[in-house]
Amino acid sequence: MKFEIITIFPKIFDSYFGESILARARKKKLIQIKVHNLRDYTADKHKTVDDSPYGGGPGMVMRADVIAKAITKIKSQKSNLKSKVILFSPASKKFTQKDAQRLSKYGQLIFVCGRYEGVDCRAEKYIADEVFSIGDFVLSGGEIPAMAVVEAVSRLIPGVLGKSESIEEKRYGVGVPVYTRPEVLEYKGKKYRVPKVLLSGNHRKIAEWRESRRSV
Ligand code: SAH
Repeated sequence: MKFEIITIFPKIFDSYFGESILARARKKKLIQIKVHNLRDYTADKHKTVDDSPYGGGPGMVMRADVIAKAITKIKSQKSNLKSKVILFSPASKKFTQKDAQRLSKYGQLIFVCGRYEGVDCRAEKYIADEVFSIGDFVLSGGEIPAMAVVEAVSRLIPGVLGKSESIEEKRYGVGVPVYTRPEVLEYKGKKYRVPKVLLSGNHRKIAEWRESRRSV
């Protein structure tokens, strides 16, 4: 899987993608992450990626022509891969685990991270294959949404999660509460115990308890 991220803040991604599971997956060549600076696809001396909105009003809008140029260039290098262009907007359909599963079957995912007042609507309509929101709140850019989608998709690619990580997740299920030592937690004068069933040693009962609490 190749992730291509188009942004005006490429450095944002270095630290997150350089740690833990994703760093290991990159090293093992299970995933590739390439970050592109949108300014490299501009034609003018000032490397302009935005302009004022038609119809007036405050703020700046990201230009669809610069985005189109970047995508055309990135796609042409990998024309044989099953590829999708993804944009982000707080007003679009919400990204879910089902989307992550579906997208994990692609060979190349190209993300465009919006900034300012967002991107020219024609980029969403005619350039993007899909537009996602990651929740009902407004961020200042599409970089965190892109990181979230890259991570959710990557961990579904075989081999990305270590053997024990994926076995644990399958066994417990998503959303199942987990506990570890100490058996009794003291906080603000109160005592909080681990559910008795988990200490019982009865594997059937434990499995039933976990099953009843899983959300996915
Ligand atoms: N004024 C715009 C918001 C722009 S936010 C509006 O009313 O829709 C700037 C960029 O941040 C967006 O283009 C998008 O890429 C990203 N963004 C902000 N919140 C987001 C969210 N909840 N989900 C996905 N992307 C988001």
